[in-house]
Amino acid sequence: MNQWENNIRKVTPYVPGEQPQENDIIKLNTNENPYPPSPKVYERHRTMEVDRFSLYPDPSASELVEKLEEYYGLEKGQVFVGVGSDDVLSLAFLTFFNSKKPILFPDVTYSFYPVWAEVYRIPYECPPLDENFRIIPKDYERENGGVVIANPNAPTSLGMSISEIEKILLANQDVIVIIDEAYVDFGGETVLPLLDRFENLLIVRTYSKSRSMAGMRIGFAMGNKRLIQAMTDVKESINSYTMTMESICLGAASLEDEEYFQNNLRKIIDTRAYTEKELEKRGFFVLNSQTNFLFARHREMSGQFLFEELRKRKIFVRHFQTERIREYLRITIGTKEQMEKMLAALDEIMCESC
Ligand SMILES: *Cc1c(COP(=O)(O)O)cnc(C)c1O
Repeated sequence: MNQWENNIRKVTPYVPGEQPQENDIIKLNTNENPYPPSPKVYERHRTMEVDRFSLYPDPSASELVEKLEEYYGLEKGQVFVGVGSDDVLSLAFLTFFNSKKPILFPDVTYSFYPVWAEVYRIPYECPPLDENFRIIPKDYERENGGVVIANPNAPTSLGMSISEIEKILLANQDVIVIIDEAYVDFGGETVLPLLDRFENLLIVRTYSKSRSMAGMRIGFAMGNKRLIQAMTDVKESINSYTMTMESICLGAASLEDEEYFQNNLRKIIDTRAYTEKELEKRGFFVLNSQTNFLFARHREMSGQFLFEELRKRKIFVRHFQTERIREYLRITIGTKEQMEKMLAALDEIMCESC
């Protein structure tokens, strides 16, 4: 072994869902939105001045930041934006988790959390979810260096009430508590009303799911001004110009169309209810989702088998090889037509194997 190999920061990277590039597939594996962004985004995109691409973008992304502060009724300085919420979360870990005590997040949750903890050398512990995949607030009432909770949680799709999260906040006033609300628009309960009371609360959101803009890479955090300033200082010590001109303008434009946004959410929530019922008819156990995906296992057929058979039929869902959730599939809610095709494929698979 070469000497220099000892000094490499070795990590096991996060594995994102496949992004197959063919057009004839049904992609239900990374929780993207099946509908396009708002017409306001198209309009703004058409009028973008390509000439201006020769200049650096606004390092503070003020147009987007100000629109978000207004949209959520916050004060100036309470929003931080980044290149997807992965960028925002990663920076939050780097900025806030510098204790020798372990940070806490559930054993079954967004699988990027342990990866950031590893890469930044943050000790961590993972209290197990209960047998129904619920977070147990009491588990977070011990000494720690910070707390991260996805609410609703992924890949379980289950949400916690604001009062349960409040319990966790009350028990953890000396550390930063991050609530990752990537899916909250699909029926979860936001902790936004708690922001005034807890100066250690950071809420993280994304444009990738509910706003149909995963390709633009826009995420943001909301918190008290000191937290936002601390994140900004760290960001500016790494890369001042993270948001492209396009993501700044188009992210702002998306907020100007509440009606389109609400309609889009309604369609997905309706299709979710339809799909849940249809899966249950076919012998699936489905968790009660507050997200744009369903987490389901068949009562007889293995998760791996169903995943592979669907894949052969060009239908991509997500399957995790990890201990507790091996029998489950995570199925993104697509359009009604996409779900019908997925259900028809399941009928075919079940018919062949019986
Ligand atoms: C999708 C997702 C993210 C990351 O989204 P970005 O595309 O990086 O904004 C963060 N947290 C959870 C729980 C997610 O499911």
